[in-house]
Amino acid sequence: MLLQWLRTLWGHRFLCPVCGYSGVFHMVSPSTGRREHARCPACGALERQRLQYLVMEEVLKDMDTRQMSMLHAVPEKIFIDKLRATFGHYVTTGVSGKSMDFRFDLTSIPFTEATFDVFFASHVLENVANDLLAMREVQRVLKPGGFAFLPVPVIGVKTIEYLEPNAQEEGNVRCPGEDYFERLRSVFSKVKIYTSDHFLQKYQLYCYEDRTHWPETMPLRPKVTGLKHMDYVPVCFK
Ligand SMILES: [Zn+2]
Repeated sequence: MLLQWLRTLWGHRFLCPVCGYSGVFHMVSPSTGRREHARCPACGALERQRLQYLVMEEVLKDMDTRQMSMLHAVPEKIFIDKLRATFGHYVTTGVSGKSMDFRFDLTSIPFTEATFDVFFASHVLENVANDLLAMREVQRVLKPGGFAFLPVPVIGVKTIEYLEPNAQEEGNVRCPGEDYFERLRSVFSKVKIYTSDHFLQKYQLYCYEDRTHWPETMPLRPKVTGLKHMDYVPVCFK
């Protein structure tokens, strides 16, 4: 019994690429239900954040980032200090939040063309009604050769547009599906999709959750079978 428990525990030991913690990841219980092996207990990084971190590391590995600029929209705390230390010029924006460098809507970015090398917005576009306009704005302010990390939460195959923002989903106006990347492809010259499968299992980059039962407050989300779900990070080149 003890041996079995230890084997189980050992099989569920992971490595956090963000902070280097090695060990068990914690379960989280958002309103959508419990999610296993989700959070790094040391730095708090979730599955999607670990994947995003690894993708950024891979894409930026041969670049002199001290000579580069990043515009980071609606930044998550876990990334701010690291990215500020990585890029020579790093600015944040959001529609709320005291510590933002700027406050503006992504459908109207107050910078001239070709201002930034890199743009990053995680789980933001599902919140923007005119997301195509936001994509075009991001593309506009990127320098030639620049690129944007634009991950959204993908559930199911087809994107579902909501008739109105769902307050129970932080105001989301849609539930992106796997076909959402086609929208990015319609704006950017090239889109490369990284998935949870791209990196080693030890980082635990999947969502272990039951998507066959969503809360009643999320009636439009598609039900998906299986308890292990892939995550995605599209890298969009100007
Ligand atoms: Zn960590």
